[in-house]
Amino acid sequence: MKLMIVRNRKWLLVTFCVLMSTVPIYMQETKKEHIIPLSIKTEALKALSYYPELKNTPIEFKFKKHIKKSIMQAQPRFLSLLKGKKNRSYKILISETFEIGGQHYATENIPENVLIGWLGHELGHVMDYRNRSSLNLIWFGIKYYLSDSYIQKAERAADTYAVEKNMETYILETKNFILNNTNLSEVYKARIKKYYLSPDEIVKLVEDRDFKKEN
Ligand SMILES: [Zn+2]
Repeated sequence: MKLMIVRNRKWLLVTFCVLMSTVPIYMQETKKEHIIPLSIKTEALKALSYYPELKNTPIEFKFKKHIKKSIMQAQPRFLSLLKGKKNRSYKILISETFEIGGQHYATENIPENVLIGWLGHELGHVMDYRNRSSLNLIWFGIKYYLSDSYIQKAERAADTYAVEKNMETYILETKNFILNNTNLSEVYKARIKKYYLSPDEIVKLVEDRDFKKEN
């Protein structure tokens, strides 16, 4: 009888341990902070790995038929603006196709590192947004549409975050992909030159970042 109780206790303990060990797995499975289409999962996870701060920030990567004037766009979810900074969620919209020399190409098929750099830039926007109050973000959205200098400020901030997170190799590949692609429209290239950091400025940022690290 005594032996039975001891054995039962042992089994109880084993069952308890097995059940407890499944709790974190179950939580990970159901948490789903990041919603990513399968076709860009590898690239998005790679870009996210440079931003450990965004581990618990809900972000949905979502394909869209067409985005005005750009290929990707990071935004806070409108209703989540009613919540506090900490509970806000974001979406990164990705245009399904982009045009090169009159032909349409699928965004999911652009070279892997270029896509990682592109997504890394968008996550830089999320980093910028999460430091702002909701009121500030609404004001930010208005100014982004109205002022050229504000677009420049926001785009350069996103690039700067990505470089601070050591993503310069990818960011430079993305930049070179756009600027050296003879078939991309000149209007789009001019836009990139006007608003974003140039490859030289990125190299300078990297030098400054590494100098700060060493001293
Ligand atoms: Zn941007």
